[in-house]
Amino acid sequence: MKIAVFPGSFDPITVGHESIVKRGVDLFDKLIIAIGHNSNKKSFFSIEQRIAWIEKVFEGYDNIVVDNYSGLTVDYCQSVGATYILRGLRTSSDFEFERSIGQMNKKIFPKIETIFILSQPEHTMINSGVVRDIIRHNGNADQFVPSCIDVSKGLRNK
Ligand code: ADP
Repeated sequence: MKIAVFPGSFDPITVGHESIVKRGVDLFDKLIIAIGHNSNKKSFFSIEQRIAWIEKVFEGYDNIVVDNYSGLTVDYCQSVGATYILRGLRTSSDFEFERSIGQMNKKIFPKIETIFILSQPEHTMINSGVVRDIIRHNGNADQFVPSCIDVSKGLRNK
């Protein structure tokens, strides 16, 4: 069984993430969208809120599950039997960042393969950080997030 993990912070999920998942899901038997969290780093939206949104976006996909983890991504992959990591690539700087993480992950856990999907051109400028800035300043971020979610009403961390 081919199990993949799509790790990220998804704070919040964007249309860029949504597209990568929809285009990647059929490559695997099961895709786990896994929210990595770090107790030292405060997120903008609560973990419960981020999970609820991702579950809503992919309800109806019976081979997608949503989970969260802390610690090393490869340790999490091993614990759930995943041998693939799915990642999106927007720019050459994404590539450089991903190259070093991917090569390190392969050294630590040789069974893992990182699979990259190029972002759609219209999603290249989207990242969760700018979406958070728009929300923080009461702007309208609707076009950057999946259509079924309302980020303006999301449960935020204090
Ligand atoms: P962000 O950059 O939005 O904070 P994460 O760090 O949670 O996202 O990244 C999770 C994965 O989603 C990474 O592989 C990242 O390259 C990918 N990703 C993020 N935004 C986009 C986008 N706009 N288009 C395609 N892939 C993306």
